[in-house]
Amino acid sequence: MNKIKYQTPTGMHDVFGKEQVFYDKVEETAKKLAEFYAFQRITTPILEDQELFIRSVGEGTDIVEKEMFTLKTKGKDLLVLRPEGTAPVFRAYIENGMQSFSQPVKLWYYGPFFRYERPQAGRYRQFWQIGFEFVGDKAPVYDAQTILIAHNLLKDIGFKNIVVSINSIGCEECRKDYKKALNSFLKNKKDLICADCKKRAEKNILRVLDCKNPKCQQVLSEAPQIVDYLCPECKDHFKHVLEYLEEVSIPYRLDPFLVRGLDYYSKTVFEIGFSETDKEEALGSLAGGGRYDSLGKALKSDDIPGVGFSMGVERIIALMKLKNIKYKEKKKESIFIVQVGELARKKTLKIIEELRSQKINVSEAISKESMKLQLTKANKLAINIVLIIGQREALNNTVIIKNMETGKQSIVEQENIVKEIKKRIK
Ligand code: AMP
Repeated sequence: MNKIKYQTPTGMHDVFGKEQVFYDKVEETAKKLAEFYAFQRITTPILEDQELFIRSVGEGTDIVEKEMFTLKTKGKDLLVLRPEGTAPVFRAYIENGMQSFSQPVKLWYYGPFFRYERPQAGRYRQFWQIGFEFVGDKAPVYDAQTILIAHNLLKDIGFKNIVVSINSIGCEECRKDYKKALNSFLKNKKDLICADCKKRAEKNILRVLDCKNPKCQQVLSEAPQIVDYLCPECKDHFKHVLEYLEEVSIPYRLDPFLVRGLDYYSKTVFEIGFSETDKEEALGSLAGGGRYDSLGKALKSDDIPGVGFSMGVERIIALMKLKNIKYKEKKKESIFIVQVGELARKKTLKIIEELRSQKINVSEAISKESMKLQLTKANKLAINIVLIIGQREALNNTVIIKNMETGKQSIVEQENIVKEIKKRIK
């Protein structure tokens, strides 16, 4: 018979075992912070209307141009496996009338995202992101709190020596003037920049600024800086954000070339990375985000301000491993139950349920016959208390309780087992 080999689709992975523990811990850390800062979790559908991303993320971006997983339904709707989280959260805010809630509405998410990328180290077609969004308030204090939460999340995960890179890309108005200035600066330098940047200069000129090509960076070192073109309101907003960051001692550096690529950003944009310039830089930033006050308009809705950040979980985990950040695995199994013989197995099945109803963790190897094998498993799990029901105990309705550290054992009635265990694990 021919075997059919099934594999995960290109760029997608199974997550299980030790790897899953990393994902769970990152999620747990985010959840704790979300509770503290009173963010509600939101789960939006995996599929969204293609238009949502075209209008928000923007046509000239890599995400929309090359990376969307688009599918046509039988009803001929064009749906997309969501490539990012801000636009869906914003759509949900409008659709569910959250404008009538107390503002800002604080929402966080954790889930899978999809981009049709060329698979390479650290770049997958399905990856996980955590994001926090303040929707419905334009005060600069929320820009600072967004950065603060992202910074705290990374610190709580275990990263040290992290620094915020920050810039303001202004509002649509001041950006117009800046784009003109950048355009005339690049006019007679087109031969000096890379082929991608030549295209970017036509379609989405701000993206030339964050090109990593050394040739382009050399040219750009002389380029006009966007902060010099900010209108009074944007300048004042940025000044406040920086003052708030100083107040809470968040280390930052101004990066005049940080633009973050997506069309919906306005005013503050930021990324968080390592302060030392070592090989981790090659893996990119740990988190990024910014303000998106023109997103409402782009989606043909009301003017709704917002600010938020996201972080890619795979990148976080890769860097945790690189930096040797380990999580202590919680010891859940406090008790192991060993059984010998069919009657003992039946009694064991019942005792496990009694213990579970009292929230006592118990491990077993209930299909196994050999006592030695079962004890070896208990040893591997480093369990202190082992319950043994042999043939005699099964008949007598008793259980042996063995302390694996001291080797001491005693016999108790099966009906008293929960009470006895509670006494010992206190
Ligand atoms: P972006 O929305 O492009 O700024 O991405 C936000 C974060 O998501 C990045 O910093 C990455 O950590 C992560 N990310 C984006 N695309 C991918 C991908 N294809 N594979 C894994 N992680 C990704």
